[in-house]
Amino acid sequence: MHERTIFHKIVSGDIPCEAVYETDDVLGFKDIHPKAPTHILFIAKREEDFVASINDLTEETAHVPGLLIRAAQDFANQKGMSGYQLKFHVGKDGGQEVFYLHLHLLSQQKV
Ligand code: 5GP
Repeated sequence: MHERTIFHKIVSGDIPCEAVYETDDVLGFKDIHPKAPTHILFIAKREEDFVASINDLTEETAHVPGLLIRAAQDFANQKGMSGYQLKFHVGKDGGQEVFYLHLHLLSQQKV
């Protein structure tokens, strides 16, 4: 069993978040400490899609970054965004604090 992170609790609804995007597979919510006018985190919802970090991807979870990128693209298109950054922090030395794979979408455009 892996450690239950804060993002597990967000997916299960045990702690609240400001959700801005949701499908059967992916949840997008506002970062609690935004580093840009728009700062959204995208995470996979399904237990079988859980992976702690890009560094821990396996054959079984290799599709998950694609799900998150596709969700970010969909969100940005829905909001009519013209530009944004997508980031994965990988490992403690890569600035990762929460070990539940998440994609940051940052933009100077506030949506
Ligand atoms: P990391 O550095 O692991 O890539 O990013 C984790 C991000 O999660 C940080 O930007 C941090 O502000 C955000 N975060 C941490 N705890 C919470 C929380 O409880 N709710 C929300 N919405 N964001 C959080």
